[in-house]
Amino acid sequence: MKWWGWGDEGVSFTHTDKPALAPFIKLHLGLDVEAETSRPVAFNDLRIPDSLLEPSLRSALEGAVGSERVSTDPLDRVVHARGKCLRDLVRHRRGELGRVPDVVVRPDDEDEVAAVLRVALDADAVLIPFGGGTNISGSLEAPESETRTVISVDTGLMDRVLEIDEESRLARVQAGVLGPRLEAQLNARGWTVGHFPDSFTHSTLGGWIATRSSGMQSDKYGDVADLTRAVRVVTPSGILATRPVPHTSTGPSVREMVLGSEGRLGIITEATVHVHRVPERRTILGYLFPSWPEALAAMREIAESEASPSVTRVSDAAETRFSFATRKEPSLLDRLRSKVLQTYLERRRDFDLEAMCLSFIGYEGSKDHVAAQRKLVGKIVSRHGGLCVGSGPGELYDQKKFDTPYIRDYLLDRGAPGDVSETSAPWSVLSILYDNVTEAARRAFDELGVRGYIMCHLSHSYHAGACLYFTFAFKPSGRRDVLEEYDVVKDAIQQTFVDSGATLSHHHAVGTEHAKWLDQDISGPGVAMLRSLFDGVDPGANLNPGKIV
Ligand code: FAD
Repeated sequence: MKWWGWGDEGVSFTHTDKPALAPFIKLHLGLDVEAETSRPVAFNDLRIPDSLLEPSLRSALEGAVGSERVSTDPLDRVVHARGKCLRDLVRHRRGELGRVPDVVVRPDDEDEVAAVLRVALDADAVLIPFGGGTNISGSLEAPESETRTVISVDTGLMDRVLEIDEESRLARVQAGVLGPRLEAQLNARGWTVGHFPDSFTHSTLGGWIATRSSGMQSDKYGDVADLTRAVRVVTPSGILATRPVPHTSTGPSVREMVLGSEGRLGIITEATVHVHRVPERRTILGYLFPSWPEALAAMREIAESEASPSVTRVSDAAETRFSFATRKEPSLLDRLRSKVLQTYLERRRDFDLEAMCLSFIGYEGSKDHVAAQRKLVGKIVSRHGGLCVGSGPGELYDQKKFDTPYIRDYLLDRGAPGDVSETSAPWSVLSILYDNVTEAARRAFDELGVRGYIMCHLSHSYHAGACLYFTFAFKPSGRRDVLEEYDVVKDAIQQTFVDSGATLSHHHAVGTEHAKWLDQDISGPGVAMLRSLFDGVDPGANLNPGKIV
């Protein structure tokens, strides 16, 4: 992973193969994409604080995991200092590194994790578990004022599927496994977990659990909270282990307390998760709706119906226009097809192309199941004035989804912050929530006197509601620090979530970025309960202090 941005060195986002993108960005943000105005500081010019690791603690850590797995290498320490939220990226790019961990250790199994924890507690050091480092809630950074030694515990060597109980459809898996390696091990035996967040390539099972993550196919497979049946966690008072039973009435759920705990209760070493047979057929179809209200109503009706798609996602008109602007150079045949479609939509279906909303709906299972599901969904889509545009757009989306994360770095290279805020709310609230949030963002852009863009999609449908995922970007005014201006927009959006009856985050966790809204979301007594839990389990505040509360 790049130390200053997303993904692999050498891979980046570009507009050069997307003919409509540069004019789109110019129109909406007033940004000239040909002009790179800002690049990250060169690594060699970084002022990396010296490691505070004492020789005695180093030799105790080496005793726990072996000397080759205790690293004070500067690049290693910088990579482990933060996650990938916009504030992390901006400060890293500027060379403002904050409280960099003093050492990175890489345990290989649960015994080694337990040994590292013992050594750390004896030395009153701080332990921060590190999965893939992809969180976007400020869940990894040590407090600036931390004077104790900070140890980053990289779980990446714990990457094996240990056992598959085929009869129960459960797999016991080490927590440090990255998405692709998890799926490769399971697919080789005909199974899948079905958890595919957009950060899949660089995030881990332990990280997903510790942040209550959601994957694109959550409508079928559930969020990580649903598919995690049991956990093993190294805590200050020993190994916490829950049983992989389908349901239990053993008081408040300890498993649930670990879910979303962001390293504050211990280090998750293992989880037992649901696995499913790799489906015979998997398809994502594109649909077009005449308007956002019709699209929202259709998604709600699909959730209420007997249909059970694996993905339900619909973009508002602004995100639809953006999607079209990121299309690669179309072939002559594609251009003709799209002209015919446009004419049909405008003349025969009375579509206003500016208000049109693009949707992706996914189906998985046997051939017959997929066909029956498509029929059920097709009827609902038609009732709301929509139509199916085939599998082409869905396949394109499927291919592109792991590339789009690179776009934040692309915008930052041009001086513009772009970020996301996501939430969930009951169906009855979604429409007004959407209006309130887009209005709040536009007011924030006006207050700053900047040109900005906000767009949204609905994804992750449930019995009682869904997730709304907003993406925004703006060209800073140049009059204030870019992070100050970013905070004006981000705060306006987050405050509108809680004011409108929605949650501060559907799947990006709390960290430090969202902590200030927690009492408005779960109430003062709720926050006090969490505080008591963390203080009780970790009285010395050694485990990832300062996150969540
Ligand atoms: P890290 O970032 O390393 O850690 C996150 C937190 O979990 C930290 O507090 C850390 O201390 C703790 N932690 C990590 N491992 C352990 C462990 N073994 N034991 C105890 N605590 C641990 N999220 C989604 O849910 N869905 C998405 O579609 C999605 N898309 C994203 C796209 C992009 C471009 C980016 C940058 C992020 C996205 N995220 C998404 C957010 C992020 O990927 C998730 O929060 C993910 O679950 C973090 O996993 P990680 O392994 O990278 O954890």
